[in-house]
Amino acid sequence: MTKKTIYVDNAATTAMSDIAISAMTPYLKEVYGNPSSLHTVGQIAKEALDGARAKIAKCLNCDPKEIYFTSGGSEADNQAIRSAAVNGAKKGKKHIVSTAFEHHAVLHTLKKLEKEGFEVTYLDVHANGIVTADEVASAIRPDTALVTVMYANNEIGTIQPISEIGAVCKQKGVVFHTDAVQAVGHIPVDVKADNIDMLSVSAHKFHGPKGVGVLYCRRGLPLNTFIDGGMQERGKRAGTENIAGAVSMAAALEYACENMQKNSKKLIKLRDRLIDGLLKIPYSRLNGDKTKRLPNNVNISFEGTEGESLLLLLDAKGICASSGSACTTASLEPSHVLLSIGLPHEIAHGSLRLTLSAENTEDEIDYIIKEVPEVVDRVRGISSFWDDLQSGKIKHFIEK
Ligand SMILES: *Cc1c(COP(=O)(O)O)cnc(C)c1O
Repeated sequence: MTKKTIYVDNAATTAMSDIAISAMTPYLKEVYGNPSSLHTVGQIAKEALDGARAKIAKCLNCDPKEIYFTSGGSEADNQAIRSAAVNGAKKGKKHIVSTAFEHHAVLHTLKKLEKEGFEVTYLDVHANGIVTADEVASAIRPDTALVTVMYANNEIGTIQPISEIGAVCKQKGVVFHTDAVQAVGHIPVDVKADNIDMLSVSAHKFHGPKGVGVLYCRRGLPLNTFIDGGMQERGKRAGTENIAGAVSMAAALEYACENMQKNSKKLIKLRDRLIDGLLKIPYSRLNGDKTKRLPNNVNISFEGTEGESLLLLLDAKGICASSGSACTTASLEPSHVLLSIGLPHEIAHGSLRLTLSAENTEDEIDYIIKEVPEVVDRVRGISSFWDDLQSGKIKHFIEK
């Protein structure tokens, strides 16, 4: 490779850290046992799994018995939501409260439940990308089975008032689930202080491996199986455990939590430098609240551009970014998240998400700040929409 790659797509996935890789290797080699086996090789694997569970529980401030390993964030979301819905329905409760800008793992589960007779209220997240606890409180009805609101958004990085929403749910006796995939390992998350009943985590968003995650489920809350089979994970998730993944995830999370303060300070500095640099481009706007956002998230719209073109031109310059969520790049529909904060289709289409890691440097940020204006100019140069904006035929949405 001749050109250095600048990777700023850490909300899609992160590179595994050396710590996560070296924690994992013994469990791919010599410690290969099945934790269900009674012999020594199996029991060593079981100890490793218990250790990983304890470490993760400590980071989330819960009991290890409240941690269930899954294949990732999507599975955890599916299991949590479906379980709470089905158990609510048993008591005649078939209403769910959520938001318009959840991850597809949540939204598509909810859509399916709607087809099965559940009713879902999707709360507005407003122009700043934040829902309020009062709005959640007003949406809760006597037949509400579940509130599911994401901790931090994967596209615009906005952080929700989770502990307040949790307090509302607790007071009203409604199960509260949060997709915390973008939050855990990045900002402080404490399931007790935040009044969370169920929470989804994914390892590959904090430099752990792909294909492993965790569902936290508060003790006493019924949890239905999603994958049926053996009695692994206290009978709640069948399948021979991914020991190497679990151990590696625990190492990555422990490291992320221990270094969180230091890293977020660094990231916020880089983030704000990048935001300030890019907002110098005429007719650009930051999407999502300026301060109530993840330390590593930058999401900016450039009027009169088209996200995919921006991405390809940046890629040619060695910059790996995203135009929305990775899941939407295959479709032509603009991001549902950007539409949910009130952006018109054309503006949502011309958006760039840059999500940093602590490995990024000031020099890399400055390189991006130098290259993006050129790329934006090139894309605007071939855009008839931009011509119409320039000639006044179409009114600007974004101020200069
Ligand atoms: C990445 C992501 C998921 C999905 O996690 P996987 O482990 O990839 O299944 C769910 N929710 C959010 C907010 C995410 O960013």
